[in-house]
Amino acid sequence: MSEIIKTSHLTKTYQQQHAVDQLHLTVNQGDIYGFLGRNGAGKTTTIRMLLGLIKPTSGRIEIFGENFFKHQKDILRRIGSIVEVPGFYENLTAKENLSINAKIMGVHKRNALEEALEIVDLQHETKKLVGQYSLGMKQRLGIARALLHYPELLILDEPTNGLDPIGIKEMRNMIQTLARERNITIFVSSHILSEIEQLADHIGMIHEGKLLEEISFQQMKERNRKYLEFQVSNDHKAAMILEKHFGIVDYVVHLGGNIRIYSHVGQQGKINQALVEHGIEVFKIMINEDRLEDYFTKLVGGGAIG
Ligand code: ATP
Repeated sequence: MSEIIKTSHLTKTYQQQHAVDQLHLTVNQGDIYGFLGRNGAGKTTTIRMLLGLIKPTSGRIEIFGENFFKHQKDILRRIGSIVEVPGFYENLTAKENLSINAKIMGVHKRNALEEALEIVDLQHETKKLVGQYSLGMKQRLGIARALLHYPELLILDEPTNGLDPIGIKEMRNMIQTLARERNITIFVSSHILSEIEQLADHIGMIHEGKLLEEISFQQMKERNRKYLEFQVSNDHKAAMILEKHFGIVDYVVHLGGNIRIYSHVGQQGKINQALVEHGIEVFKIMINEDRLEDYFTKLVGGGAIG
């Protein structure tokens, strides 16, 4: 799988304060990459650097496998973006607005406007002026504009900010359609964990300018799964019984005789019986769930996200 964005040691410093600090990001082709962090974490600063809107203090950016600083103009032609609420002429229709943008961007392809409007489901708004649009419609029009030149990569900075739940859902569906049906790689930032969780194939978690971790959808799922927790008198012996009698391999032994079993939820009775029969005391049995939210809260040191 080829890498569409790769940054190394990417850093932006303002008055000796690191807004972005030694960032190593990897975004693979076709992925929806969720860039998650609280307000002020450094998301917008990163995105501005990826789009050439500000210059990094240090570090490297490769996009489409090329050095961004050497080939910036060519690379930017292949990227669509929304950074902050997109501005439009309020006294014109969506199509009139896009037509002006298409001219400025040098897009001459026939049907480009119609196609873009159709993707964002604004093709029927032929009369309404953009000034009468809801924020959600304006955001969709912003996506249409970002798609005019058929980009391979879409970079969206908090596209659901200020939207109501329906607007958020529409935006999510649209992003998924663009990724799945048009094979566009999407880099999308948010401060809302649940939103990113429902959308992304990979999550990059940024906090105080630093990348805490990149995890895949699979890892996300695993972090959210249920497990059985046994507290026992002899964890070593208990582990042997789990393996031998139940074929359990997916377990973790924690300090203090705590065993977490990430399978066989529902069979705690049988497991308990087997342990007791082998002379192991069972002090506690619980069914628990690891939650991604708790995990992130731990990572950023308190205070929930989203
Ligand atoms: P938000 O969602 O609130 O926009 P963010 O994650 O996008 O948050 P950034 O806007 O990238 O965060 O800001 C990261 C840090 O850099 C913040 O502490 C911010 O105050 C600081 N910062 C950003 N731009 C500048 C600037 N031009 N001058 C000085 N400091 C800045």
